[in-house]
Amino acid sequence: MDEKPAVKRPMRRGSRRKVCAFCQEKVEFIDYKDVNRLKKYITEGGKILPRRMSGTCAMHQRELSNAIKKARIVALLPFRGE
Ligand SMILES: [Zn+2]
Repeated sequence: MDEKPAVKRPMRRGSRRKVCAFCQEKVEFIDYKDVNRLKKYITEGGKILPRRMSGTCAMHQRELSNAIKKARIVALLPFRGE
């Protein structure tokens, strides 16, 4: 009998947990006119960064996407990439 240790260890990568930047600053409302901030959360193609990349929490990700959508409507941000 050969017993192989088939137990998969959960990989812990990065001890530093990324905290939502908006939570840290206690931002409750994300201003769509704050383009400089919003720009950090969109890709060059104009897409909204996924949460796992931005580290934004679910609540703020939602706020963020709303803000970005508004910003697009008023042409502060490009529409491309959707
Ligand atoms: Zn948050």
